[in-house]
Amino acid sequence: MAYQENSAMTKSAGSGHPSARFAAPALVALALALCAPLCPAQEMAQDQGPAPRLASDPHADSHIAEAIRQVSAERIRQTIEKLVSFQNRSTISAQDEASIRAGTGIGAAREWIKAEFERYSKECGGCLEVKTDRFTEQPADRIPKPTEITNVYAVLGGSDAEQAKRIVLVTGHYDSRNSDTLNGTDPAPGANDDGSGTAVSLECARVLSKAVLNKIKFPATIIFLAVAGEEQGLNGSKHLAEMAKQQGWKLEAVLNNDIVGGDRSPQQDASVVRVFSEGLPAAASEAEIRRIRMLGGESDSTSRELARFIADVGRSYDAGVKPLLIFRLDRFLRGGDHYSFNQQGFAAVRFTEFREDFNHQHQTPRTENGIEYGDLPKFVDFNYVGHVARLNAATLASLASAPAPPANVKMQTKALDNDTTLTWEPSRGAAAYEVVWRSTKAPDWEYVQTVSNGTRPTLKVSKDNVIFGVRALDAAGHRSLPVVPEPER
Ligand SMILES: [Zn+2]
Repeated sequence: MAYQENSAMTKSAGSGHPSARFAAPALVALALALCAPLCPAQEMAQDQGPAPRLASDPHADSHIAEAIRQVSAERIRQTIEKLVSFQNRSTISAQDEASIRAGTGIGAAREWIKAEFERYSKECGGCLEVKTDRFTEQPADRIPKPTEITNVYAVLGGSDAEQAKRIVLVTGHYDSRNSDTLNGTDPAPGANDDGSGTAVSLECARVLSKAVLNKIKFPATIIFLAVAGEEQGLNGSKHLAEMAKQQGWKLEAVLNNDIVGGDRSPQQDASVVRVFSEGLPAAASEAEIRRIRMLGGESDSTSRELARFIADVGRSYDAGVKPLLIFRLDRFLRGGDHYSFNQQGFAAVRFTEFREDFNHQHQTPRTENGIEYGDLPKFVDFNYVGHVARLNAATLASLASAPAPPANVKMQTKALDNDTTLTWEPSRGAAAYEVVWRSTKAPDWEYVQTVSNGTRPTLKVSKDNVIFGVRALDAAGHRSLPVVPEPER
């Protein structure tokens, strides 16, 4: 049975009396009918013309839909099997010339990924700039001696000179491990962890660069990244995120794919992929935490808005898999590269399959008591990885097509007042704006009101009762990430 976000609710309603399962929806409908005169939507309808739409209306761009159809599960299979062929991709495995020539160790994996990006670039007339971020990590817990770590990435520059400064990024880690983090020689296939995420990054690069060749324009820049050092302590992503911060990158979104192989265990739910996002930002100062506490903004980090954006993409495009938002930084006892970006103040989320099989991660391949251990390609569902790649590609393309999110978004709180006045600065490329809002206890945006004129609307909705966001949209309907207003007194 497919897992659903509201399954807990259905379950509790269904427990006990058998008729309760059928009574519950009727009660909800009745409650909605009774509440209608008080609902924000109705309030708007009476005072301001047309009622706001539900914020969850799907809106797809046919060019993006066509681009994501090019994702190939077969290509993904080839990528993952190639990565596995390097035997051991531990960050402390071999990277000398002889090993690279022999096709073993992380050095060979790195050179192959770089060559793949270069091949895609050649196919799109040089549209990708292939780069490396190389540094030497000093000895630490899981790094016995000074070790060179290399992140490999491809940049698809934006088509608009000004908008190109905005960046969206997809990443996976190409390093692997077996049962011993300090073993750089015995097999560490890492097909799922994280051959799958690396394959997502590469496949997004292939199809979106091809889309550009087919004359689709992305005004903002897209970066396709493969990092190393994840298993030794997020070293590669930390270095790149710090570089992005130091160099002032306008990095709007980071999609980290780690363990998206859809392990073929019987309890797997291949219809969803989990999307983890932090609540309180790791980078928030004490003053910011105080403000968040005052405003009830615990569920409105930029990473959380990115997660909601992905939910919207999931409703708008047929990726083959639906995002299942998890309002939590990561799984228990685990971490990932998105956190390196969160620590530098960037919006970053983690994609991970619904149910992990821990016998197939971080394990030296072997059979014990009839149980087969090891992160092998045969446990990976390549179609599933393809679906996750489609969801990622649609998200990247949607963000890179959209105008910049509105800047300096404020909510006027100078006087006691039951209406809400919002203000913001115009965004480059915006044809209109949308104010979205939701009940303080709702997980996702519920209502949307279009603002076609000006950047200072007053809504007949009380700021005390809801959470607002403002997003920009272009003439074709591409939406930016929403920005939650700051109170201005
Ligand atoms: Zn991993």
